[in-house]
This record gives sequence, C-alpha cells and structure tokens, in this order.
Amino acid sequence: MIVRTTILKFTTTGAPDFIDLTDETEKAVKSSGIQNGTVLVYSKHTTAAIRINESEAGIKHDFREHVKKIYPPFEYYRHNDMGVRTENLDCDDNRCDKNGHSHLNHFFLGTSETIPIVEGKMALGRWQRVFLIELCSPRKREVVLQVLGV
Ligand code: ZN
Repeated sequence: MIVRTTILKFTTTGAPDFIDLTDETEKAVKSSGIQNGTVLVYSKHTTAAIRINESEAGIKHDFREHVKKIYPPFEYYRHNDMGVRTENLDCDDNRCDKNGHSHLNHFFLGTSETIPIVEGKMALGRWQRVFLIELCSPRKREVVLQVLGV
C-alpha cells in the first residue's frame, strides 16, 4: 500500500469562485505511481467546498443565481449575530463574522470527493471535473490531495 499526500494552495477571488483541480489531481495520481486505489480531494475549510461537476459557463452561472436564492447573504444568520455569538471569535482577518450563508452552503455541498483510480488514471466520466468552490470572500485556501493504493 502506498500513500502520497500533496497540499495545493490558492488565493480565491470570492464567492462563488470555481477552481478546477482536475489537472493537478491527475498529476498527483500519476506521480504517485499508484495503479489502483483512490484519491481524496479534501478542503481544509468550512466555507470552501469540493464538488465534481461539469465545467460549463451556464452551469456556473446557474449555480451563482440559485445559491443567492437558497442562501441569501443578507438574511439573518445567528452565526453573524455578534450579540449572541460566543464561540470562535478569534478570527484573524475580521471577515468571519458575516458568512453564515457561506457555512450553510458548505454543509450542503461538502468538504471532499473521493475518486477511484483504475490502471493509473482517475475514473472520471467524460464531463466530470473536480472543483474547489469558494463560498466566502477572497481567501487563502488549502486543498489536500491524498492518493492511496497499490
Ligand atoms: Zn464564519
């Protein structure tokens, strides 16, 4: 069994920014030498999701429009209410206090994807691409790629 871990670093431009990780992930799989196993693509954040979908401008546009309706940024969120919030107040960039909508969106998208590796390649479908999706303001982000197999 072989395990190879790579950390990717990004600076995003704000929500919803789609960063296509497919080529970097394929590169990590190839350099690992693993022929059969899985690759985990994992976001180290609570407001930046990992999802697989098609890379097409219309889909990205639709995502942006629907997210605004489902998680409107200017609704009341208890996470944003500093009058009642008592936890995790040590934010170092002074922006974490108004992103309740970003956290909710992240809950329903997810933190990771796991992709099968078959004969040295990711078993993605024709249209499948792996994205880091920024759900908050511009930030520094880290994604862990962990390739595991034989
Ligand atoms: Zn927050």
